[in-house]
Amino acid sequence: MKYLDEYRDPALAVKLLAELHATATRPWAVMEVCGGQTHTLVRQGIDELLPAGIRMIHGPGCPVCVTPLEVIDKALAIAARPEVIFTSYGDMLRVPGSAGDLLGVRARGGDVRVVYTPLDAVRIARQHPDREVVFFAVGFETTAPANAMAVRYAADAGIGNFSVLVSHVLVPPAITALLDAPDNQVQGFLAAGHVCAVMGWTEYEPIAARYRVPIVVTGFEPLDLLEGILMAVRQLEQGRSEVENQYARAVRRTGNTAAQEVVRRVFRVTERNWRGIGPIPTSGLALAAEFSAYDADTRFATTGVRTEENPDCIAGAILRGTKLPTDCAAYGTRCTPRTPLGAPMVSAEGTCAAFHNSGRRPAPSTVEEIG
Ligand code: SF4
Repeated sequence: MKYLDEYRDPALAVKLLAELHATATRPWAVMEVCGGQTHTLVRQGIDELLPAGIRMIHGPGCPVCVTPLEVIDKALAIAARPEVIFTSYGDMLRVPGSAGDLLGVRARGGDVRVVYTPLDAVRIARQHPDREVVFFAVGFETTAPANAMAVRYAADAGIGNFSVLVSHVLVPPAITALLDAPDNQVQGFLAAGHVCAVMGWTEYEPIAARYRVPIVVTGFEPLDLLEGILMAVRQLEQGRSEVENQYARAVRRTGNTAAQEVVRRVFRVTERNWRGIGPIPTSGLALAAEFSAYDADTRFATTGVRTEENPDCIAGAILRGTKLPTDCAAYGTRCTPRTPLGAPMVSAEGTCAAFHNSGRRPAPSTVEEIG
């Protein structure tokens, strides 16, 4: 298959692995920020083929996982209102809030619908002028342009019964927060290629220089990841800390300026609370004042929602890269993709789901278990 097979060539993978083994002389810890990259690494077993000292740390790049509990709870409250048609991408329907999920709201009679683009939600609003249509606008820099376009389209078309519940997050401030954490172990990053396709990589340049970390813009296929890891390790071995682009077939340094422009027009940068991580300054997007009429949060006055995290879920440590899913006592027993206790087991990009779907098992911890 053109543009896929050439990035999954086993012979080339063996060559890259050999080069990596020849390059790495010391232990290094590299974080892949994106959940899509985590899935490729784990599904293909790439993390287990690396030289013994090279450790991949799985980062917080799953949009469903980092959406804060209080926003999920607001979504549940809004979706339960009789006048509302609540629209969302499919993954969000199973993410547990404090008391259930959006599927549960639908089972109790709420009008909750899966859409594939935010423009579908605008179309539903046009078809149902007597109802309030809300779109759950979550995600990183990748989904922000389409969501911004939907708001602009609704504004231009005078569609007043459409609004968005916004919980957008931005990657560079999260990387900075991870590097500032006292327990940080990350020495180099693979930056998500699709985020950089939109935003370019200029925002990473001051981070690489200030924290002396290599950052390699990387794609999502097995060979992309192997080459990205090799580029990061080569920089670490040589004492360099630059932004390099492995994903040249899709990413330019300045990104997609037209997409950036529509995001700048519709949204403003704000502090955002990351589920499991906490508040990070300038790490989120909220609607700009000009478009505040489209803010579902204020339209439905969702104040007073009480949130309660599941105490068994260690998603925060997993999203910060300080623990693995197999360290969680509920992993694979009380928490599975069919019975998820936390967002990382729900989402297609969640680290716990990646581990579970690839059959990773917790390491035996006692003599009896080893048998
Ligand atoms: S395995 Fe389940 S309970 Fe444990 S951290 Fe992952 S999502 Fe949370």
